[in-house]
Amino acid sequence: MELNKKLTRRSTLRNLGLGIAGGGLGLSGFSANAEERETYRKATKGLPPLKITRVSAIATCPHTIELIVVKVETNEPGLYGLGCATFRQRAHAVVAAIDKYLNDFCVGRDVDNIEDIWQATYQSSYWRNGPVLNNALSGLDQALWDIKGKRANMPVYQLLGGKCRFGIDCYAHAGGNSPEAVAEDAQSYIDKGFRHVRIQMGGYGASQALGGYGASQEKIPADFKDKGFGMPDDNYMDPIYYTKSVVDMFKAVREKCGDRVELLHDIHERVQPTDAIRMIKELEPYRPFFIEDPFSPENNRYFKLLRQQTSVPIAMGELFNNPHEWVDPMKDQLFDFIRIHISQIGGITPAMKVARLGEFFNIKTAWHGPGDVSPVGHAANAHIDFAVWNFGIQESVHFSDRIQEIFTGCPYVENGYMYVNEVPGLGVDINEKEAAKYPLPDKQLNNWTQLRKNDGTIIRP
Ligand code: MG
Repeated sequence: MELNKKLTRRSTLRNLGLGIAGGGLGLSGFSANAEERETYRKATKGLPPLKITRVSAIATCPHTIELIVVKVETNEPGLYGLGCATFRQRAHAVVAAIDKYLNDFCVGRDVDNIEDIWQATYQSSYWRNGPVLNNALSGLDQALWDIKGKRANMPVYQLLGGKCRFGIDCYAHAGGNSPEAVAEDAQSYIDKGFRHVRIQMGGYGASQALGGYGASQEKIPADFKDKGFGMPDDNYMDPIYYTKSVVDMFKAVREKCGDRVELLHDIHERVQPTDAIRMIKELEPYRPFFIEDPFSPENNRYFKLLRQQTSVPIAMGELFNNPHEWVDPMKDQLFDFIRIHISQIGGITPAMKVARLGEFFNIKTAWHGPGDVSPVGHAANAHIDFAVWNFGIQESVHFSDRIQEIFTGCPYVENGYMYVNEVPGLGVDINEKEAAKYPLPDKQLNNWTQLRKNDGTIIRP
């Protein structure tokens, strides 16, 4: 009798599922009786079946940074989700990927099936992966998580397992044109409550400044400039100057700020691997929290050499595209912090997989959080940060008043901790009227900084 009841219930639910899949919107096509309808209502907590009706790009450029957000609309009036698809250097290509391809592919799909939609979209172009398609996919993926949170009446971190911590420890960016100026700036963030500060002198790599980018105390001439090689705005990178200046900077910051603050630095893959290894070893007395991106992804094999020579913690991965790129280095414990640019790899769904993998290898998260991520993307970072046990640190940005007029409900930082608001979903909304005041320029505004060696050879970040 009891078994019959269970079987009836199971087949009822199965039939309900078939009815919904085959019936389009609402419960049309499903001929359930009142009791069966009630069973379905209870199983789904009263949520109606929901389909995607439109996927579109919202582009806005409030501060010379092209921010792209994906809006996923549903057949429930007023219920939509937002996701970040910001790829500053190729913004128009991402907009086309969303409006011309994703919309057609996704309309009519069941918004609840995030994993299925992710997998289907990922392979829908046959030739897959890459920053343009992954950013478009990320916007879709984050928007679906946003919708799921709104449907469940919960913040997304709850759907990922709930909070592991009360706040998200994050780092601020200190800079300056001399070791002393960087130390001053670092102290100002410590005074604001930050326990972690990233220190950079003269932009990424002090000698980047010497070719005319940013500012510096001394100018080192570059032969390629004298010869008129390259473009007038190209920058010069002097590896000897840079590697020495970073050690001087760490020394000055430790002397001024003491031993308690955690210090971070990003090499940004800009020197030869052996120069990077030598410099990292010289930084040991100053106990870096982590050194980021010592090598370009093309030089990943140097990690083994680095690990044999120093115990300085290493962060890597913001240039990776495909979650598979993390697997081998994580299995071999070649770095300590996973850098992920969440929109670059396709959103929350793949980022969670890499984060969970890290737990088994004692590798912590350090999600990329620069200015060219929209507040929706920062919120997506933060929801994962709350939910994964092996969280390490979060890069933080300050949202200008203008950004906060466009995006409401942005994550915020207090005493060096980042928080999200507790509304269902990712918690960030967009004022499309405000966003439209800052349209995307027709011409590409930003290419990545062109950096050259003394003889003019391009340096790969
Ligand atoms: Mg970096």
